[in-house]
Amino acid sequence: MPHADRMHRYDARMVDLVFDYMRERLQYDPVPLDHPGDGEKLGAALDGLLSDRGNDPADVLKLYDHELSRAVISADSPRYLSFIPCAPTKAALLFDMVVSCASLQGISWLEAAGAIAAENQVLRLIADRAGLPATAGGCFVSGGSAGNLSALVVARDVARQRLGVGIGARLRVAVSDQTHSSVTNTLNIIGVEKLVVPTVNHRLTGEALRAAIAADEDPGTIIAVVGTAGTTNAGIVDDLAGIAEVAREHGLWFHVDGAYGGAGLFAPSVREKYRGIEHADSFVVDPHKWLFAPFDCAALIYRDPRLAKAVHTQDASYLDVLHTADHDQEWNPTDYAYHLTRRARGLPLWFSLAVHGTDAYSEAIETGIALARDTAALIRAEYPDLEVVREPELSSVVYRRKGWTAKDYYAWSERLLADQTGFVTPTGWEGEVVARFAFLHPGTTMEMVREILDTMV
Ligand SMILES: *Cc1c(COP(=O)(O)O)cnc(C)c1O
Repeated sequence: MPHADRMHRYDARMVDLVFDYMRERLQYDPVPLDHPGDGEKLGAALDGLLSDRGNDPADVLKLYDHELSRAVISADSPRYLSFIPCAPTKAALLFDMVVSCASLQGISWLEAAGAIAAENQVLRLIADRAGLPATAGGCFVSGGSAGNLSALVVARDVARQRLGVGIGARLRVAVSDQTHSSVTNTLNIIGVEKLVVPTVNHRLTGEALRAAIAADEDPGTIIAVVGTAGTTNAGIVDDLAGIAEVAREHGLWFHVDGAYGGAGLFAPSVREKYRGIEHADSFVVDPHKWLFAPFDCAALIYRDPRLAKAVHTQDASYLDVLHTADHDQEWNPTDYAYHLTRRARGLPLWFSLAVHGTDAYSEAIETGIALARDTAALIRAEYPDLEVVREPELSSVVYRRKGWTAKDYYAWSERLLADQTGFVTPTGWEGEVVARFAFLHPGTTMEMVREILDTMV
């Protein structure tokens, strides 16, 4: 009988195989875009792989390298300009492997104080950039969606308590017509309706919010407002100062969704746009977007974390030990979102920040902003067939090719990927299909942009 622990023993050959692969992947320059997948081909490659006896790791790794990895479009390619890319620093990637190797979790202070102290150092840094008070705190969750959900549950329960109402009571959250889809999902999940406030040039203003509340027939049911610090499509930062003022007037919870754009807090050229964020009751920013951390990582920060703790702490007898010696300095990240078990997913960012310093981050973020600005200028100067739809505010550019229909955009996008020139998917703008660049990777160059624009003339 082979020993039951044979999977847990050090296997030098397998370690070399995987480390060699990782070393090679880290050295790709540039990272190839790769391709969409073909279900039949992938199915054939995987057929029969999971068996009673297992396989040689060299064969499995080869299958991954040759078949699977090529059917994943590389979010860290400088030519990946769709949705929101992910361009982790090498330091963050490497430390992500350390987090895995050490089976690091970040559930409770009792189990993981060292990891939590480092994560909290990063949350503190972000909170300081936002101008939140010294008492602010939270935890890292898997993404903006998880952050928005966890924060708005707290907003809901705080309001229920304040209003003295129970589960059946009608409650609403003010959002804009540009608010991210994850907020709509959240409100559906938590049984709260939305009050959609129309935007002015795609931006939610305090004035519009005030007018919407004044015109509302049931204003007492409005309990919170979501401001967006960087819409995903066009990178527009709402009038956070104006929204904060209205929130204060009406006792609303003020949540700021900065999943994509929150990183702009580190960019001096746009910092002014975020004025008012210091009044947020809760704030989300995704380091796996524009703070160059690997998937999956979102920072969730509350102005008064005690409120979140009262809502999210799980009550189970086997967990009592986590909460019996709860001194000020003990922090259980699990108490600040809907999760329990969690990976210490803030550590890759912590390591990279500690190694590189915040100036390097500011520079890299400014590069994305400059790419957007320069691309808009280039389109105006040299591409008469193209048209910038809206002046970029952060790092995305929405633009149109005059005369193109939706079909033209989709065919062009497919061609571009097939040629490995770029991954640029069309988006919607006021009912029209248009093109969009989402810049983020500091290795993207204006030559690459020009190459892509040249395919549209
Ligand atoms: C990306 C994004 C989200 C969702 O974040 P995930 O990390 O994908 O869950 C929410 N809001 C905004 C504004 C975003 O850009």
